[in-house]
Amino acid sequence: MYQDKGSLKLYKFSIAQKSIILRACELNLKLDNKNEFDLMSLLTILEYPDSRLRTVARNVDRVTTSVSNFVEDLLETMYAAPGIGLAATQVNVHKRIIVIDVSAEHNEPLVFINPTIEVLGGMQTSEEGCLSVPGFFEQVERSEKISVKAWDKTGTPFELKAEGLLAVCIQHECDHLEGKLFVDYLSGLKRNRIRHRIQKRRRT
Ligand SMILES: [Zn+2]
Repeated sequence: MYQDKGSLKLYKFSIAQKSIILRACELNLKLDNKNEFDLMSLLTILEYPDSRLRTVARNVDRVTTSVSNFVEDLLETMYAAPGIGLAATQVNVHKRIIVIDVSAEHNEPLVFINPTIEVLGGMQTSEEGCLSVPGFFEQVERSEKISVKAWDKTGTPFELKAEGLLAVCIQHECDHLEGKLFVDYLSGLKRNRIRHRIQKRRRT
């Protein structure tokens, strides 16, 4: 979810106004960023309207070495994009795994395996973007306070209460596991416009 503009982090976040303003990233620094990482472990992010993004993910039975390795690759791919959240669905792995880091320093990774969300109340509207819908940001209404139960990267169950940006991000990423994208909350007109612009951009 979301993208920074390279080294210039231009997103402003106001919990009081329940609004998040994020500037679009043109990804012109993407290649420079990638040099900092092992290219072999970066995963390819599917882009809307790829039909594989509509796949419903399955539960993880247990955290094996391959699951742990995949979680590390997912985190690395999220940081390199750059983004603040990424779901396994977005890299064509249809297991219930999401990673998030909404910290200012990008050094507080959160891993949710088999997450389930309970809504605690309230609604908030904020501007969202998605690594699978690059360059587009739209207002989306979501629950303000949630509780999420999941396993951490070692397979240990935990429960977390979240609000504000973290709650938005968790809901956005969990939607991916159900094959749902933030553009599904928009009008058909807006969604079609985004799809046409992405397809046009890909052809040029
Ligand atoms: Zn997304």
